Parts: sequence; structure tokens; C-alpha cells
Amino acid sequence: MRIEGIPASAGYAEGPLFDLDQSPAAYRGKASAAEERAALKAAIGKAVSRLTTLIEAADGDAAGILEFHIAMLEDDALSGPALAAIGSGQPADAAWRQALGAEIAGYEASDQDYFRARAADLRDIRDQVLRALSDNSEAAAPLGAILHGVDIAPTRFLETDWSRGGGIALKGGSTASHVAMLARSRGVPMVVGLGAFADKPTGNALLDAEHGAIVVSPSPAEIEAFRQSSSSFAARQGKALTFLTQPAVTKAGTPVRVQVNIAYPSDVDGIDIDTCDGVGLMRTEFLFGRTLPDEETQYQAYRKVLEWAGEKPVTIRTVDAGGDKPVPGFTVEETNPFLGLRGIRLSLARREIFRVQIRALLRAAIHGNLKVMFPMIATAEEYAQAAALFAEEQAALATRGVTHKLPPLGIMVEVPAVAIAPEAFANVAFFSVGSNDLTQYVMAAARDNAAVGYLNSVRHPAVLRLIASVATFGRKKGIPVSLCGDAGGDPAAIPALLEAGLRDLSVAPAQLAMAKAAIADVSV
Ligand code: PEP
Ligand code: MG
Repeated sequence: MRIEGIPASAGYAEGPLFDLDQSPAAYRGKASAAEERAALKAAIGKAVSRLTTLIEAADGDAAGILEFHIAMLEDDALSGPALAAIGSGQPADAAWRQALGAEIAGYEASDQDYFRARAADLRDIRDQVLRALSDNSEAAAPLGAILHGVDIAPTRFLETDWSRGGGIALKGGSTASHVAMLARSRGVPMVVGLGAFADKPTGNALLDAEHGAIVVSPSPAEIEAFRQSSSSFAARQGKALTFLTQPAVTKAGTPVRVQVNIAYPSDVDGIDIDTCDGVGLMRTEFLFGRTLPDEETQYQAYRKVLEWAGEKPVTIRTVDAGGDKPVPGFTVEETNPFLGLRGIRLSLARREIFRVQIRALLRAAIHGNLKVMFPMIATAEEYAQAAALFAEEQAALATRGVTHKLPPLGIMVEVPAVAIAPEAFANVAFFSVGSNDLTQYVMAAARDNAAVGYLNSVRHPAVLRLIASVATFGRKKGIPVSLCGDAGGDPAAIPALLEAGLRDLSVAPAQLAMAKAAIADVSV
């Protein structure tokens, strides 16, 4: 039986199925509300210390996610309603389950992929505390198993030993979830959206996370075909690794710069700077998590990345909140957030918040080769206003005698208006094509809606023509043009992007090797 889903992390796994949705053992109630409260607090404390231990062994993105979990667990807004419910007679487990259930339902009901993906984090937090309450540890999956269920908790992922293979097959899930991000960076095959997957399948299964499918109770012919695809994938990956430490060049000898995209400053801990040409995009909206970061926090985050990169460029993008990346206390509720107050529009509307980031960037600029870019620019006026704020903050820092430097200021090309009429932007320091948004706006197909996924292709001639015209404009005016959307790391899109005239791509760190290998195959 073959069931189709959506690939979230490419690869192949063959092994026994392991059910993630086994129910935990029961909690034994206490004699008084005071004891129930103490039990809940102790369980939260236990969950926090378990996460702290996991952080010690985790790197970059994983540590960031676990820190996010700890912050949630330590937030009184989460435990408050549970403690109140204990006061009115509920046992600790039911009170916690109910309080978290309400939060989870709120996230699940969101029409935005980003928020729905965070529901998995909340379920994880709920279950960690429930397990601590009932002194229950999870049954370990056999090595090499395919873990299946509705969704998988990030901590479950981090505690699983993937050294002998294995994979993840989810009925629900999301390609935008934290676990999907982790699976991509660790190379663990993962398929989401297998809605029709049987309830309690058993036995061996074949997970094809290159195309997005699982085969349960496979026939000998299916096993044979699967093994062929799997070894061809492994061969392509193995070959790609030999490219990792080399500068990228095409078959015709044309050099191509390949930089990396990062989100958390700790992401750089897992990357060898010698394998890339710098950071082409640091998304800063993830620093704007549940609370708005102050100037010092931002300064330290930017400084860390700049010092890691040395002389290589680091392009930091000012906060692109809104759209599928809401930030509580900053973004606004909108019926059509992708076309609303997001990116530079929001920063210019909330200048007191924007100015904090600008000061942090100006101060950090002395620690390396910083470039700053603005997201979602549509008009030259927006660029002029953002640049004027940099000039104002620079003057204020100079008056106060604070060391700083004005970095080159560039823009993202992701709103079609800019790609169609780039001549209004002849004064910017550089362009960076945001193909994720450019594609969704050109094709009128939301990037987080699987139902219109078939329209969402950077290789559509309309999108490629716009990219090519921006590349030509940049060459004529001497303005560097790069691309930092996900298409830059997609081996299937790379030939078309280079043919469109691009020579500078920025990709997810896990895609560096495959991207360089794909570049070597292009004959431009
Ligand atoms: C893009 O739109 O291509 C891009 C890189 O920005 P983000 O994915 O953060 O919107
Ligand atoms: Mg974008």
C-alpha cells in the first residue's frame, strides 16, 4: 500500500514502523491541592532540567528550539491557568492538560502555517510535563525505525538515535515545523501530510522522502525499486560532499558565489566558514520570538555572526515580521497578512522598534563585513525612509561617542513591482532576490498552501523572466544581485537561475554540498 504525502526532508528509509502515539502511563493523584500544585511545579522543573541537559549536547538550531521550550515552560502565562484549575479541585495532570489544550487549540486553528507549526512545540511541552508528573519515560524506538504518528515532538526527535538510519512519517505535520528544520539539517528523511495513513500499521515500511510517500507491507518488486532509488540518492549525496570544501564553479568554469542562510546566531556553530562565501541572509525575525529583543541582545547576536565570518560578508536583513512570521506584540491581525503590514512596511510603521534594531546593527558593523538589507521593499520612498533612519541613528550614536559604522544598505527583490521597474532603485548598494515571496506574488499562490503548491514554481517563465531582468539591470548599473530564496538550494532550479544570469546564491547550510554539485553540472 503506497500513500502519498509531502516531502519535508529528502532521503530514504527502510525499517520497522514505530508508533509515536502510544499513551503514557496514568498519573497518581495527590491528597490536597497544595500537593497537586507542588507536583506540577516539580514536574515543570524536571522538564526544564531535562531540556537543559539536552541543550548541552545540542548544536545551533536545536539549542535554539530547546531554549524556546524552556522559555515557554518558565512563562507564568502557561502555568497560571493550570495552577488556578488545581485550586478549584482538579488534579495536576488534568489541569495541565486542559490549560495546554486551550493554547494548542488556539495555535491549531490559526490560518497561518507558522502558528500551526508551533502547536507541535506546545504539544511537546505538554507531554514532557505529563511524563515528568507520572514518572514515565518514553519507550525507545528500535534503531533504524520509521517513527509514525500524527506529529512528532522536537525533543523526541533530538533524543532519537539516528545513527543507524530511520525516518519520520506523519499524518499531519508541516514542512515549516521546527522538527522539519532539524530533520533537514541532520539529513533524517521525513514525510508529512500522509492523511490517509492507516491507524495502526505494523511491520516494515519503505519511506521515500525524496518524492514524498510511504509504502506499507511492500511487495518484492516495490522493495527492489525502492532500493534502486535509495542508492541512486545516496550516490548523488556522496558525490556532492566532495564539492563542499571547493569553491563553486560551473562546467564552463564560471565561478558562482554560494553563501548560507541562517536564522539563529547559534546556527553558525555547525558551519565551517571555509565551505561558504559568507552569509547571504540572516533572518532576524526569529530573534523577535515571544518578546521583543533589546538593543544589547541584538548587538551580541549580530556580533557573534560577524566575528565568525571574519572578512567574508554577512548580510543581515532587518526584521521581516508579518505574513507567515507573526511576532506577538509587534505584528497586527490581518485578513490577508501576505499582502499586509509586513517587512519594511511594519518597521516603518513601528519606528521605535525599528530604531532599536538599527542601533544594534550600526554598533555591530565594526566587528566584520556587514551588509544590511530591507525586506518587502515596494517603492523607492520606503528605501529612502529606511536609509534616512539609519542616517539619523548614526548621527545620534556619533553625538554620544558610541563606536559604530554605516554598512552598505540593499534591498530584497520579492515584490514584483521592484523586479518589473528596478530603475527606481539605482541608488541601492545591492539587490537580493527573495524567490519565495517573488514566486508567490507573481503566481498568486500562497507559499504555505499545499493546495496551490503546483503553481509555486520559481521555474515558471514569468518568474524567471523577472529574475533575469533584475540580473541584467544590476550588471548594467554595477549593482550586485544575489538570490536568497529557497530555490537557490534546489538542484532542480539551479540551472535555470544561472541561465537567468545569477552568479551569487544563498542556501540553507544543509544544501551547500548539493547546490555546489548542481552548479558544477551547469554549462553557462
Ligand atoms: C524570500 O522571500 O525568498 C526570502 C528569502 O524571504 P523569506 O523566506 O524569509 O520571506
Ligand atoms: Mg521573503
